[in-house]
Amino acid sequence: MIFKRLSEYLGKLEETTLRNKITQILAELFHESTPDEIGKLCYLLQGRVAPLFTAIEFGMADKMMIKAITYGMGVEDGRVLKVFQEEGDLGKAVEKIKNQKSTTKNTYKKLNINKVYEILYQVATSGGSGSQDKKITLLGNLLHDVDALSARYIVRITLAKLRMGFSDMTILDSLSWMIKGSKQLRPEIERAYNVRPDLGFISETVQKHGIEGLKSTEPKVGIPILMARAERMANSEDIILKIGKCAIEPKYDGFRLQIHYDGKDVKLFSRNLENVTNMYPDIIKGIKKQIHKPAVIEGEAIGINLKTGEYLPFQETVQRKRKYDVELKAKEIPLHLFAFDCLIVGRENLLVKSYVERRNYLEKLIGKGETVYIAQLEVVSNPIRLEELFQDAVTRGIEGVMAKKLEGIYRAGARDFNWIKYKRSYSGKLADTIDAVVMGYDLGQGKRSGFGIGDFLIGVYDEKQDKFGTVTKIGTGLTDEEWREIKIRSDKLKVKTQPKNYEVDKIMSCDIWITPQIVVEIRADEITRSPVHTAGRVMGPSESGNSKEVKVAGFALRFPRLEKFRDDKKPQDATTLSEVEKMYKLQEKK
Ligand code: ATP
Repeated sequence: MIFKRLSEYLGKLEETTLRNKITQILAELFHESTPDEIGKLCYLLQGRVAPLFTAIEFGMADKMMIKAITYGMGVEDGRVLKVFQEEGDLGKAVEKIKNQKSTTKNTYKKLNINKVYEILYQVATSGGSGSQDKKITLLGNLLHDVDALSARYIVRITLAKLRMGFSDMTILDSLSWMIKGSKQLRPEIERAYNVRPDLGFISETVQKHGIEGLKSTEPKVGIPILMARAERMANSEDIILKIGKCAIEPKYDGFRLQIHYDGKDVKLFSRNLENVTNMYPDIIKGIKKQIHKPAVIEGEAIGINLKTGEYLPFQETVQRKRKYDVELKAKEIPLHLFAFDCLIVGRENLLVKSYVERRNYLEKLIGKGETVYIAQLEVVSNPIRLEELFQDAVTRGIEGVMAKKLEGIYRAGARDFNWIKYKRSYSGKLADTIDAVVMGYDLGQGKRSGFGIGDFLIGVYDEKQDKFGTVTKIGTGLTDEEWREIKIRSDKLKVKTQPKNYEVDKIMSCDIWITPQIVVEIRADEITRSPVHTAGRVMGPSESGNSKEVKVAGFALRFPRLEKFRDDKKPQDATTLSEVEKMYKLQEKK
């Protein structure tokens, strides 16, 4: 397939907000591609040249792109910047310049997808001295060679600004659509994706071997597995009623790591599958010392106060997440890892084994040492004992407990009752926090005009529609420092118009829209119903027959407060709409 064809598809995708339409357009595109193209297509659609969990990024800023365009188009200095200022988008700018330049018009080369991918891959992976010039030359030549529309998208891909408004989930739907003409096969495709969340691998397999090809998808050391998650429950009796005799572990309040050890090297992945290997050298050392076989394990890492020997609160542990001065910080705040699961040992896939079996493997796997410890455990069948353990955890300053079903398998990517989190309740009705996505903000007035931000709009992820629906605007309760931080973070993500995957009522519209990236943990007193919020809202026709009326009001948060930034979560990992629905019911029960 020539790249221009992909660009035409991207053009069509850009024009529509309808989920089904997007799915069908993608299915058509996939259908037209060959097995050696489809994987690359999937990466390019995400604005990348490799799966999300690899550290391969373009690392290209506007300034460098301007140089590449200037070089490639052979225009005078200052010209690109001027058109960029007029258009507000470098993609549009390069397209305009190409269309104006009669010499390059209509004389583009018919580069195919594989060729363009290969060049972009070189751009992303060239490093070291002289790499900036190399990137500029490679990109400049490429932009010179392609048609105007393709130049628009190549620029956006390289700047990580493709922003098509759909996530991997829509791509999985379209793979199903490609082979079946419906979304029916999505659950099967998703099961494989949860174990190997690499769209390149999944799409190629489907293209070559159909759905059958995915049946044998096994986890692999080195490729992160989507992490299993926990349901919430608000008291001990309910937990025992639900899963019977179960294992109770403390709910450590650090950050989760999935650790892949191939017998030689260690890779570390965060909750959202970001490769964080370079950040935690102390954990790597500990793993190499205490584990003697290839394995994949999971655990919670917590910082230690060197003076008192006590575990640090999350806010301090999280300072270890950094790209610079890593060694220095590792000395200041050493980490312990509380291992709580084991997904592969040797060549054996343990995902399908029960909790009890996996725990046995884990206990045999971890040798003596000062870094990796096995999570405490007690098996209980009596709610009174469970409550004692919970209270004991709370007294020790721990967040709560995790209850794990003894015969439960490891359900990659799923949130179910195999694991239940039972957290400290707070004064309000709502027993848990909500992780929400910052969607935009309003300019400040009065006291806060100095910050340039008056309030910000947040929403949760509607997994059925692959969209974000709003739950509240937060305008109070932040410290000056937090206001500044949210403004700085938001300004890096500003977009001109409301993103396509945002469902927002007119009343909640924002002065400034931002692309979904920032996840914040919000504590609220209660989830209420509100007609102006779109998460869970259903529109008419109501009894009066007016289709624009609110039939079921959406969910809203009462007295929301910012707890912390959740840099370990992707927007799609934010609390989902169906979780909010469950939390709403749970709160009624409380
Ligand atoms: P979730 O991971 O469920 O989306 P979250 O990241 O907001 O939610 P919590 O709701 O606080 O986190 O609870 C789940 C998290 O608890 C796990 O992802 C893990 O990081 C942490 N955790 C701490 N101790 C344990 C344990 N013993 N077993 C499993 N997870 C644990």
